[in-house]
Amino acid sequence: MKQDQNRCDSLEYHSEPRPGKLEVRSTKPCATQRDLSLAYSPHVAWPCREIEADPEAVYRYTGKANTVAVVSDGTAVLGLGRIGPHAGLPVMEGKAVLFKRFADIDALPICLSGVHRGDRTDPDRLIETVERLEPTFGGINLEDIGAPACFEVERQLKKTMPIPVFHDDQHGTAIICMAGIFNSLELTGRRIEETRFVVNGAGAAGVACIDLCISAGARRENVVLCDSKGVIYRGREEGMTPEKERLAAETDARTLADALKDADIFMGLSVADCVDRDMIRSMNDEPIVFAMANPDPEITPDAAWEAGAAVVGTGRSDYPNQVNNVLGFPGIFRGALDVRASAINEEMKRAAARALADLARAEVPGDVREELAAVYPEDAAAGMFDGDAPLGSRYVIPKPFDPRVVPAVARGVAEAAVRSGVARLPALDWDAYEREVTA
Ligand code: NAP
Ligand code: MG
Repeated sequence: MKQDQNRCDSLEYHSEPRPGKLEVRSTKPCATQRDLSLAYSPHVAWPCREIEADPEAVYRYTGKANTVAVVSDGTAVLGLGRIGPHAGLPVMEGKAVLFKRFADIDALPICLSGVHRGDRTDPDRLIETVERLEPTFGGINLEDIGAPACFEVERQLKKTMPIPVFHDDQHGTAIICMAGIFNSLELTGRRIEETRFVVNGAGAAGVACIDLCISAGARRENVVLCDSKGVIYRGREEGMTPEKERLAAETDARTLADALKDADIFMGLSVADCVDRDMIRSMNDEPIVFAMANPDPEITPDAAWEAGAAVVGTGRSDYPNQVNNVLGFPGIFRGALDVRASAINEEMKRAAARALADLARAEVPGDVREELAAVYPEDAAAGMFDGDAPLGSRYVIPKPFDPRVVPAVARGVAEAAVRSGVARLPALDWDAYEREVTA
């Protein structure tokens, strides 16, 4: 019954009063003959000439600076899988809606056909196609492109494109998860250098999560990655990819259960129900469990709590500590675009995770508390947003509708872009910037 209702509501939402979720609107008047001659022929020639003489002027006279392409080939769409570029279009339109709502970024859904060989992504064709989009866009959000093709596609595009290229299913997930991990380490009194990580799932999200943990200070020898065949160990031959080779562990553990013994953190980016309570009990004291398979996690949050987890994170909105990508990509692109960054690099990703983590530790101002209480009444009633340090085992990640999220992430990312030398605009007054960024 509930499913039927959701289906009806969603189909109506998408079809009425007009099909789809987006439209293009003009930002300049076009009411008079004069407007017409400025907007288009003949006087549009003036900005064209300026840009011809100075290519950077494209940022002054067009919407490029605030326009992002959401590019997908439809091979790994949400939890739906390889449904193709047409069926993936509602998702890409939805992503564009979120870009606009949360960061006032104009995002265009670009669903591509003809970039496959058989039912697999052909990386070279996808790369070539995306490269050709560069004139129109200030950034590229790769979306729902399946592993392992997504790794090569992003790596190559980052090399050749002068604008940020960011595969959100990899790095957005990793950044938000990392924010939750930073705070979970704080709550349980751990240092990242001494923490033992087990990541289950070596696809787009799992590989990015492990890479970001290592970039944030986790020691390689303390990290074990698993996939559908068990532990990815040095010398394994079955089901390997270049990423798995790179991250293979020097270990005798062969199963996920072996790997979890005495581990501090479990990060699940795999499939439902592959972890049981005993596996959680075999972990170190106060284990941290982020079971993020969607829609059904590796272990339910309730079972993980019951088995003694100190902090539990999830991909679901009906439990605390949701790793929701909307906490990341709007602010990450906002910050990158605002300093005209040529890339979104490791330092910027770490800064985004840090900004989110810090927000969950900071006292919530009264007006924000009211806004949060309106959207999350049960959490507010339980006192989640009270006190001068609201961080707790059920609140290690800020909430998606917290109006401070996008400004804080954008600021962290923009500052890190300037610091790491990829910004093409100079440093701003960061306090003023954070106040002004659209929330
Ligand atoms: P993916 O690229 O298809 O990777 C899936 C990985 O899971 C593969 O490495 C696969 O192993 C592994 N796997 C499959 N069955 C397994 C099993 N029984 N035990 C251990 N590993 C198993 O998918 P993805 O994009 O990385 O996403 C993975 C999961 O994370 C999905 O459930 C997705 O919904 C979830 N996710 C959640 C969030 C979020 O909460 N914000 C964000 C992103 C992804 P092989 O390599 O051997 O095939
Ligand atoms: Mg996605």
